[in-house]
Amino acid sequence: MSSDYRQARYEEELLMEDGVEREVEENPLPENIARERAPKIPDLPKHEVVRYFNRLSHMNYGIDTGLYPLGSCTMKYNPKYTEKLASLPEATSPHPYQPEEFSQGTLEIMWELQRQLAELGGMHSVSLQPAAGAHGEITGLMIAHQYHENNDDDRNEVIMPDTAHGTNPASVSMMGYNLVEIPSEDGCVDMEALEEAVGDNTAAFMITNPNTLGLFETDACEMAEVVHDAGGLLYYDGANLNAIMGKTTPGKMNFDIMHFNLHKTFSTPHGGGGPGSGPIGVTEELASYLPVPTVEKDDEGYRLNYDLENSIGRVKGFYGNWLVLLKAYGYITKEGRDGLERATERAVLNSNYLRKKLEPHLDLPYKSLRKHEFVLSGKKLKDKGLKTKDLAKRLLDYGYHAPTIYFPQLVDEALMIEPTETETKETLDGFAEAFASIMAEDEETIKDAPKNTAVRRVDETKAIRDSTLSYMMRD
Ligand SMILES: *Cc1c(COP(=O)(O)O)cnc(C)c1O
Repeated sequence: MSSDYRQARYEEELLMEDGVEREVEENPLPENIARERAPKIPDLPKHEVVRYFNRLSHMNYGIDTGLYPLGSCTMKYNPKYTEKLASLPEATSPHPYQPEEFSQGTLEIMWELQRQLAELGGMHSVSLQPAAGAHGEITGLMIAHQYHENNDDDRNEVIMPDTAHGTNPASVSMMGYNLVEIPSEDGCVDMEALEEAVGDNTAAFMITNPNTLGLFETDACEMAEVVHDAGGLLYYDGANLNAIMGKTTPGKMNFDIMHFNLHKTFSTPHGGGGPGSGPIGVTEELASYLPVPTVEKDDEGYRLNYDLENSIGRVKGFYGNWLVLLKAYGYITKEGRDGLERATERAVLNSNYLRKKLEPHLDLPYKSLRKHEFVLSGKKLKDKGLKTKDLAKRLLDYGYHAPTIYFPQLVDEALMIEPTETETKETLDGFAEAFASIMAEDEETIKDAPKNTAVRRVDETKAIRDSTLSYMMRD
């Protein structure tokens, strides 16, 4: 796309304010559950409602509109066949209280997915329960906590590098652990700093590999040795498996606990706050600590197991976000080992291709090969009185979603770019051309961006401090 890109812009009232309200005269509900006042429903024909939502969608931007290079978020195209699968009546109608003997197909799929994820992670056992990545993290930390408690080992610290994703320190603090942050050396974990930080208080060490700079931590096995020698456990943040699928596993790196983000790597769209899924995997030693129920297979078929010796208990109602699980199962089964490995290869190739194309325009800290994403520094924009944010806003005018900005924090004016495996060379070239042409523009044009979108630059401070997220019904 180019600076000719234009997003549709309609003057839309809220649907509730459009059309005459229909008074519901007789409330058909039994009195004991009816509200005092019937809800006010706008009196509009169905096609007007359809048109309204269609117009709103034209003012939106999504992965089905164009490139969405949001680093650390893996905004890749999600194949539509998995959506179709998840809308089949066989998928949507099972009731969670249905007896196990009538749920054999559903349980079989969950059991198979547990096995598939265990293989992809090099783990012994998997629980499908956590509903998001951060939920997986806290579940994993609860397991680490229970494990140390069972060993009468009082440990209160979790170590992580300064490149960690924001949810990692948040999970640590929610668990009541003390956070020990260690500095990076050339973008990777500084082994000396790790050796100094570990000790009798180390409950766990958490990293993501490749890290958030897109660099592969080649010392992962040495890290595992150092942490294990001190009696700690290793947690692998596997939110983005797009760089390692079929190539290596956290298990091979000797990690003990990990989570997967099915809504990033395995075919569930995300970003709109919809349901996610963050299954966790553990080693054989920790298998009995998983949350219940897990899905087991025996001679009589598939069943839910609530009886795990050291289980931390339940972390989610029922059995996890089933339809997200089903989409992941469909995707992994269809792609197979070769397909997933190819996705990894292309994700890494696309990332390095785009990195090379963008390097002439902005600084690349820690010059070396990247995995599925890379981080540029927009610090030289400051010479023109501009910031990374201005560049990100101007990209919207060219019809691209902006990359992640100002993360990771150790890079000044950071731009974190993850093109993913599904983008074509032409799309990546177009993005690089947009970058080049923005860099040649005058400051005023860039500072004034975005101009071509339905909504112009918003006041972000006001949006955070003074947000109204719900529509209040008028009297
Ligand atoms: C997205 C992400 C998470 C958190 O996942 P949520 O599902 O948003 O809770 C954790 N770690 C990394 C590296 C991520 O990219």
